Amino acid sequence: MTNPVYRVDGERLWRDLEKLATFGAEEAGGGVTRPAWSRGYLDAERWLVAQFEDAGLSVRIDAARNVWGRWEEGKLPAIVAGSHIDSVPSGGAFDGCLGVLGALEAVRALRRGGHRPDRQIWIVAWTEEEGSAFGNALFGSRAFVGELDLEAALERTNAAGETLAQAMGRIRHDSAAPPGLPRLPDGLGDLAAYLELHVEQGPLLERDGVPVGVVTDIVGLRGARLRFTGQANHAGTTPMDARRDAGVGAARGMVEARRLAVDHGVRATAGVVELSPGGTNVIPGRAEFSLDARDREAAALEAYVSALRAACSRIAEEEGLDVAYEQVYDIAPVPMDAELQRLLTDVCAEIDTRCRPMVSGAGHDAMVVAPHVPAGMVFVPSRDGISHAPQEFTSPQDCAKGAEILMHALARLSAGKPKTGGHP
Ligand SMILES: [Zn+2]
Repeated sequence: MTNPVYRVDGERLWRDLEKLATFGAEEAGGGVTRPAWSRGYLDAERWLVAQFEDAGLSVRIDAARNVWGRWEEGKLPAIVAGSHIDSVPSGGAFDGCLGVLGALEAVRALRRGGHRPDRQIWIVAWTEEEGSAFGNALFGSRAFVGELDLEAALERTNAAGETLAQAMGRIRHDSAAPPGLPRLPDGLGDLAAYLELHVEQGPLLERDGVPVGVVTDIVGLRGARLRFTGQANHAGTTPMDARRDAGVGAARGMVEARRLAVDHGVRATAGVVELSPGGTNVIPGRAEFSLDARDREAAALEAYVSALRAACSRIAEEEGLDVAYEQVYDIAPVPMDAELQRLLTDVCAEIDTRCRPMVSGAGHDAMVVAPHVPAGMVFVPSRDGISHAPQEFTSPQDCAKGAEILMHALARLSAGKPKTGGHP
């Protein structure tokens, strides 16, 4: 049963969210630009460390610069809750931040309420989840589980042309980060479960009037480029029936990408289109579009991609073109731990809060952690479904509700022997 003595301080959580949003705040437009490793990020990190210390947690910054606040009463393996505090360019104040500060308020509430954990509870702020600094998305969590190509990551550059290795060296001079090149920490044996509270970043909870989502799966992703090749030629002298127009091939391919996505029940987007050579009076000789396809079922993605490739081959034949499919990434769908889904659903029922199961269409640190540690995710509504923009907003009540669920889940998992089976 949930313990009614444990109370989240929603106003304090809201003040923390407002304070965190001042680091990297833009002068106009109300957005937050706080890429990992930036000045604003390091200031935010320093503030967060002070909040952890204030809450009586012992702080550790690991070699990948993940920030840990650990309540070290109780046994290992620990229960971990967290998310990230970096942002996209002109992002909002809730993506990631709510997961870290919500976990902090949950832990503060448990301490205020006199909870005596049988297990340790740790809070984590993973480094560079967004990949908006060096393009190393999910850097901290991937480093933590040992799935980062560290050499490649260190060589990547930011907008200023600085490599991550150089940035880490520079930062080390004026901070308390551990010396030496980062080494992948070997801490997995110390984790019993991972929980992440996050804003939905989509419209479903608000549309359905349900305040909480319990995530069942994080979608798999296929990224690819479809490149059509024809013959660049004069726009005025080439008859319409004698053209090998790669641009038309790509346009038809994009329409098929959408039609087939609807047929297969997956989500697919062509977000980048390039026509070459790119003159108003030149028939495009080359054209390509990017494909981002997502679904919770790997088989559905596979079937969709096969159908799209077949359709594009047919189009190429009809238009007198060649077509090539180049895969850029293939990330498997990740189910959340079944036992943790049940526990989160039970907590919602006990505090009279409606919740619904839902699939996350966005990637999160939880998907990196989940193959190694039983993981669960809670979503709260995003106003108008907007995220990665200054208008990103989740109400104080919804933020507090998320922290409350996290608090009760942490209380249960840290008391006695949690069973976190049902993991793939
Ligand atoms: Zn996020």
